[in-house]
Amino acid sequence: MSISVTVLAGGVGGARLAHGFALALPDGGAPSGGGGLTCVVNVGDDTERHGLHVSPDLDTVMYTLAGLNDEERGWGLTGESYTTLAQLERLGEDTWFTLGDKDLATHVVRTARLRDGQPLSAATGSLAASLGVRARLLPVTDDRVRTRVSTPSGTLDFQEYFVRRQHADAVLDLTYEGIGTSGPAPGVLDAVGGTDLLVVAPSNPFLSVEPVLTVPGVRDAVRASRARRVAVSPIVGGRALKGPAAQILETLGHEVSALGVARLYTDVVDVMVIDTADAALTAPIEDLGFEVLVTDTVMGGPDGRARLARELLAAVGPRT
Ligand code: GDP
Ligand code: CA
Repeated sequence: MSISVTVLAGGVGGARLAHGFALALPDGGAPSGGGGLTCVVNVGDDTERHGLHVSPDLDTVMYTLAGLNDEERGWGLTGESYTTLAQLERLGEDTWFTLGDKDLATHVVRTARLRDGQPLSAATGSLAASLGVRARLLPVTDDRVRTRVSTPSGTLDFQEYFVRRQHADAVLDLTYEGIGTSGPAPGVLDAVGGTDLLVVAPSNPFLSVEPVLTVPGVRDAVRASRARRVAVSPIVGGRALKGPAAQILETLGHEVSALGVARLYTDVVDVMVIDTADAALTAPIEDLGFEVLVTDTVMGGPDGRARLARELLAAVGPRT
């Protein structure tokens, strides 16, 4: 039987679990007979640099699925060089947003295709295919959505907050500019509604998952989905493995724990996957109405990712 899995993802946390499913499913998650892996990815982090359209979360998932991700750094390509960035600096460009030479080729091609009139989803599909990705990679929307971060120093563009200021500002509020008039990219609602297993990756709940769910139609499709629906907590032992997820939960008034994350997902998933370090939270999370799966959720390399994906396939889904 071919199993279909749809992963809602941001960057690194999403990419790791998506990679696990690509390793666990036949043929790297390639679509076949109604089965396969689809990744529906946040675009709220997208930005324009040096005239080019950069899609950081899509690229992190794409490079990771292609086996080209720089694992040590967590983002970008392996074996990068920075000749172009140095020259851009010499020409007077702001270069705080690091872009490697090979990575820039992705952005050049993406931008050229967008200018030719292709939607982002089509440009993404052909880039991913060229790099050997067999799973389906979809931006949640082809429309322009930009996360804006309200801080004590004012409202910042997402990459200004995240990269330039190294997510040091307290986050008072988040808005997703353009999301109200956006629509799901072709294939997104089918991938959410028609899948056997729907997975909310251990991505940042506010920076990655919320701007996916808030694209009109997506949250309703998740609620109505016939799939088994599961979320993996990005908070392990009261901390984020990387990035500002813990600080943002705190400043937005949520408990910094897998329980705090579970409260955000009561209307979208049935099963919460929490780390063995958080086993004591099982009962309170069950009290919210979830099934709880306790396992090692820290994925590390390919073996750990595939193990977690196989465990999810075996333990929680799909309904037969
Ligand atoms: P970003 O867009 O690159 O910031 O990545 P995401 O939003 O997809 O994921 C960031 C979150 O992933 C952080 O809050 C991390 O705690 C979480 N994360 C990263 N690796 C792992 C892992 O192996 N296991 C779990 N449970 N969470 C992880
Ligand atoms: Ca991101």
